[in-house]
Amino acid sequence: MLKDVDRAVLTRLLDLQAEDSAISRLQLRRASLPEAQRLAEVKDLLDELESDLDIATKQADEIAREQARIEGEISLVEAKTGKEEKRLFSGAVANPRELGALQAEVEMLKRKRSTAEDSLLEVMVQRDDAVETMQRLASEREGAASQAEQLSATVDALISDIDAQLGSHQEARQGISAELPEDLVRLYEQVRDAKGGVGAAALVGGACQGCHTQLAAKEVERLRAAGGVQRCDNCRRILVV
Ligand SMILES: [Zn+2]
Repeated sequence: MLKDVDRAVLTRLLDLQAEDSAISRLQLRRASLPEAQRLAEVKDLLDELESDLDIATKQADEIAREQARIEGEISLVEAKTGKEEKRLFSGAVANPRELGALQAEVEMLKRKRSTAEDSLLEVMVQRDDAVETMQRLASEREGAASQAEQLSATVDALISDIDAQLGSHQEARQGISAELPEDLVRLYEQVRDAKGGVGAAALVGGACQGCHTQLAAKEVERLRAAGGVQRCDNCRRILVV
């Protein structure tokens, strides 16, 4: 039956091949969009920034609690110092040994306060750094989030455009395939599967366009004279003369 296939049908087979090649190109493009790759990278960055921001927020909270603790300690020491100084200067304590002990207590409280104030300063510097880090991370996260949003919209638009093109090529493919003899389509599909997506090729200037091999003049002559379905001697693709 394949011997009886005429030229017009074989030419139509090349149209089917063109549709299949277009479909393959679109599928490849759909699967390897650089914008989608970039979107995945930005999403990874966004996850990383969110987790960094979470850590930085916890650190800042911890520092804030430490600051509150030191401030509480300072006010306690202040209150106690005030009370002891009041006793010291009230004249209520006359015993020199007791007075000495009270003075020593006040001195100790003042040293304690001074140490606590040094710690407070340190913690305040740490808190400034932590807040700065949080703000930087938050602004980086915001930037990444808006970039992800834009890329996502771009990818959606590209995919829907590709899908529309795929749809029309698939429709065209089905139409052509329905016109062709079933056994020819079956052979074409077998060869196409085995030959990297190209099952049928034209013979142009004595060269097979599937494998780009220049055929011997005699073979070209034979092909031109013979009717029906012919195959390239070199790559075995269906050769449309
Ligand atoms: Zn060939």
